[in-house]
Amino acid sequence: MIRELSVKTASREEFKDITREVAKAVEISNIKDGVCYVFVPHTTAGVTINENADPSVTKDILRKLKELVPRDDGYEHAEGNSDSHIKASMMGFCQTVLVENGKLVLGTWQGIYFCEFDGPRDRKVIVKIK
Ligand code: ZN
Repeated sequence: MIRELSVKTASREEFKDITREVAKAVEISNIKDGVCYVFVPHTTAGVTINENADPSVTKDILRKLKELVPRDDGYEHAEGNSDSHIKASMMGFCQTVLVENGKLVLGTWQGIYFCEFDGPRDRKVIVKIK
């Protein structure tokens, strides 16, 4: 079973916590023990897992990514968003989380983040639980 989540982003670059939406998809699937794949079918957005307790952590990650991958750097890609493609690849497009007793197995301080690098846009996240 595949579930599609809608994610609306509000700025060019942001990390959006989608843990609750993914957990809901697990609940609906009725699968108690298994694996949950969270896949982002875009080329300028990714998905990562990191701290959800202190919001300055994701702010710091975004700041560092901006510093490492400047918006203009003599890129060849004519669309003008090469930095977005590079940052998306750095974060990756899929995360795997174990499911036990119908719940995502995440660390106490971990959350699943949709990583927008070319927003604001209406995005999709594909969730597969098996
Ligand atoms: Zn592009």
